[in-house]
Parts: sequence; C-alpha cells; structure tokens
Amino acid sequence: MIPYGRQSIGQAEIDAVVEVLRGEKLTQGPKIAEFERTLAAQIQAPFVAAVCNGTAALHLACLALGLKAGDLLWTTPISFVASANCGLYCGAQVDFVDIDPATRNICIKKLAAKLHLAKKGGRLPKILVAVHFAGLPCDMAAIAELAREYGVYVVEDAAHALGSEYRGRPIGSCQYSDVTTFSFHPVKTIATGEGGALSCGTEDLWQRIKCLATHGIERDGARFTHHQKQPWYYEQQLLGYNYRLTDIQAALGIVQLQRLKEFVERRRYLVDRYNRHFTNLSLVLPSEYAHVRSAWHIYVVEISPELRDTLIAQLQSRQIASNVHYYPIHLQPYYRYLGFAEGDFPLAESYAQRALTLPLYPDLTDEQQDMVIDTVVNFL
Ligand SMILES: *Cc1c(COP(=O)(O)O)cnc(C)c1O
Repeated sequence: MIPYGRQSIGQAEIDAVVEVLRGEKLTQGPKIAEFERTLAAQIQAPFVAAVCNGTAALHLACLALGLKAGDLLWTTPISFVASANCGLYCGAQVDFVDIDPATRNICIKKLAAKLHLAKKGGRLPKILVAVHFAGLPCDMAAIAELAREYGVYVVEDAAHALGSEYRGRPIGSCQYSDVTTFSFHPVKTIATGEGGALSCGTEDLWQRIKCLATHGIERDGARFTHHQKQPWYYEQQLLGYNYRLTDIQAALGIVQLQRLKEFVERRRYLVDRYNRHFTNLSLVLPSEYAHVRSAWHIYVVEISPELRDTLIAQLQSRQIASNVHYYPIHLQPYYRYLGFAEGDFPLAESYAQRALTLPLYPDLTDEQQDMVIDTVVNFL
C-alpha cells in the first residue's frame, strides 16, 4: 500500500536512538537542549522549547499567552482539530474565519472585516491561530499588521510548515508572531514518533513555556518565591503539565533535522512533478504566491464532488491511499454541539467537498508516483 504520508528513517536515526538507549538518560538528558539548539538555528528562532507533541505545543502557547475562560480564540475551519481545541482546553471560546480559496489559508479580507465588527461589539479575540495549510505560509505581514491594530496575539500553527519560508525567512522565526508551534508526528516534515516544539521571540515567554511544560515547576534558585537554599528544593509556581519530549525522541529529531533540506527538496520535486502531469485536467492544483516557499506537507488537489469518492475507490483498488484534509472543524459533531452549523463558513465547506490528498513523502519513488499519476489521469 502507498500511504498518503509517512516518515523517512535511515541507519543514522536508528544509531542515534540506540546510543541514547545504551546511555544514562532516557529523558531530561542532554539531547533535548541539543535538539532545541539545532531547531532554533534552522528556523532562525530566538528561543525554542521541545515538547511531547504539536497539540501540547498549541496548548502551551495559549496558556503562556494567558488565554482563559471568557477569552476568545480564532482560527481557520480548514485545519486539524487541535488548532481550535487548544482554545477550549484553556476554557476559552473558539470561533473561525473562513478561508481564501486561492491559498486555502485564513482569508485576510474576512479576518479584517470580522475584527472590525468584533471591536464594535466589544468582543475581540485574544489569540489568532494562523495555520500554514499544507505548508503554504499565510500572509504573515498582513496578519501581523491587523494583530497590532487590534491588539491580538498571533500563534502560527506550523505543524505543516517546518522548512517553509516567508519573505526569505524560515517559518518559526516569529518575526510576525508571538509563538510558532510545530509537530513531529510521522506524517509531518520530520518525525520523532510523537513530538512537537514551540518557538518564540522573548526569553520571558520561553521561560513560561518551559515551566508550564514541566508541571509549572521552577528549579532556578534566582526565580524562587521562598528563599530556600537546599539543593533538593524546587517550587511549583504555575499549574503546568508533563509535556516533555524524551531524549530518545530528541536524538531521532536531531538526525532528522540534518535531513530537513533534503526532505523539503524532495517534497518540492514531487509536487512539481504532480502539477506538471495534472495541468490539463479538471483539477484545482496547489500553488505558491509571491514571497513564499512551501515545504509541502501534503499534496491536495480539488476535484468535482461527484467524482471524488469514485477516484478514492479507484486509487484504493490500486493500493494507493488518499485522504481528505480536512473536514471543516466547525462541522465536527463536538463543534456543532457548541453551536456551529452548516453554512457558517461556506468557502471552507465548499473546498472540503472537493479536497483530495494524494501521496506525498520523501521516500515516495518516482515509479510509485507514476502509478498515482496514471491512476488519476486515466480516471479523468
Ligand atoms: C498534526 C497537527 C497538529 C497536532 O500535532 P500532534 O503532534 O499530532 O499533536 C496541530 N495542527 C495541525 C495543523 C496539524 O496538522
């Protein structure tokens, strides 16, 4: 079976993991800081904190920015549910802004209009989670300008966008946001099993995130509330969680990061190849726009809804998996129960009826991709 996405693991990764297993520390050892430094250098971020998964990273971003009951978080309906759930975890309310069909990202015009109305109604969001869907960066300069005007924090959900670039700088540099979050789930750009990270621009925020990721416990004597000097003493100062990454995972991540460039190049090559073979078919293809470079986490085409399920079955019969990214979050039963309904975000809903994700990952061979291409071309 050709999956829609999967990890690429070589001998160097296996060796790195075995080395940790033979060593002293499986968790809270030296590999975490090394992974954080390596990632920070790659994404040109001032501060990085590694955590146990991308969802925990989003939760910590919201907590560290002070999101709480009575607050509001906005995001896009076309994302994984975690982009919205992180707001609910903090007791906040969640709302959405419809997408721009050209980029499938949050629509800047709709965002501006909704912020304008929200200000009039006295109900501005505290946080906007901007998702770089499929790896294609949102127009961060425009988002940052609106966020400044309305006093909204910006969290970039870059689970799809490790290795992507916006205006010549890597996603994660936080030039246009308060925090950026990543996921290292095996289908994402690099894999650590489960895994995630946050990057941010200030040491204060980073301290807070690190503290919240380990129960809210402070071990730095300079930051204690009580002036205890005993070496065994620590203070729980916040209500945090155990959201740590292990050294086993960090060791895997360090080797994967060394291959990031290779992964992104291969993904871009495969996307280009798909696009060239599909140009004259009745499909909407993914494309970039000025000043962005996508690491292409997934390859999503749009096809007429009447044909989609038949094509999915056709692919399946040839041992090719496909997928849909995403069924709109606001139409999930849990969100319908919160009050959302069909018709709330029509562009997202119409996109979701046509979206089809085809296999894309670095180890997908040209021959395997040819099989996918042939199946689609013959079908249409
Ligand atoms: C994968 C993903 C997440 C969550 O990451 P996990 O590591 O699986 O918790 C969050 N947001 C988006 C957009 C994702 O694709």
